[in-house]
Amino acid sequence: MKFNFYSLDINEDYDPAKHLKRFETMSEAHVRRRRLVRALPDFGEPGRALAERLTGCGFFRCRSAGCPVCLRAFRRWWGSTLAAYMSRDPDYWFTVSIVPPDLFDIGHIHQFNWKLLKDRLRNQIARSQISQAIILGGLDYNLLHFDDDRAPKWRPHLYLLAQGGGRGLIEAAFRKHYAANEDTRRPVFVNPQRTKVRDLVWTATYTFKARFENRRPCTDERGNADTDNDELAVHHQAELAILLDRQGFLGRIIRHGDDPSLPALKVR
Ligand SMILES: [Zn+2]
Repeated sequence: MKFNFYSLDINEDYDPAKHLKRFETMSEAHVRRRRLVRALPDFGEPGRALAERLTGCGFFRCRSAGCPVCLRAFRRWWGSTLAAYMSRDPDYWFTVSIVPPDLFDIGHIHQFNWKLLKDRLRNQIARSQISQAIILGGLDYNLLHFDDDRAPKWRPHLYLLAQGGGRGLIEAAFRKHYAANEDTRRPVFVNPQRTKVRDLVWTATYTFKARFENRRPCTDERGNADTDNDELAVHHQAELAILLDRQGFLGRIIRHGDDPSLPALKVR
């Protein structure tokens, strides 16, 4: 939480705020923060404390990972850093989505143990044939809805960029650890990354989302734009913001591998 990304450079050639039409504007981030501040006090002391912190975010930034304005700044740095790094050698990158089976009831996302999830992932990579790969990404959250009468549940999952190994080896590294079930038919999904600058910036920024969504079985299968517009209700955004604040920016990212030309792998 003390990590000061405001002092780090944004590579303008890969700045998501310049390259991505739908990247949140500063004023959108401010609106989002005001809405959160109003919704947070419903969540007791942790909610009130975060609301206070966000309210104080001005000339001196609060640097909370639950603050939409600070999140926007972090995403510009993270997205541009990853995209610039990939662009040096844009071939053989893959996007990897991993959906663990753990679901959390609404009101209980605070029980999510991201450290454990990350430790397991680290071990899975270490014991696989892609143990030397550069892997970068982050945690994403959505609310999973069901087509039966079950109440929606939180579903934390991973979205990563991996270089090295190839699709088969990457799938083999994770498939055995994340089993498919009725609610998650494809827990591990690997795709080749496209190599144009805009594609690199888009995917790099997507590893650390600012907008969290409802996932409904029907829209998932249609895969159309409706899914994108179905943002979480503010009350649910507020519950999640408390978790994001505790997690911090560095807690939410995944970094694996060693390359002295990418200091972001080591920044603390
Ligand atoms: Zn802030």
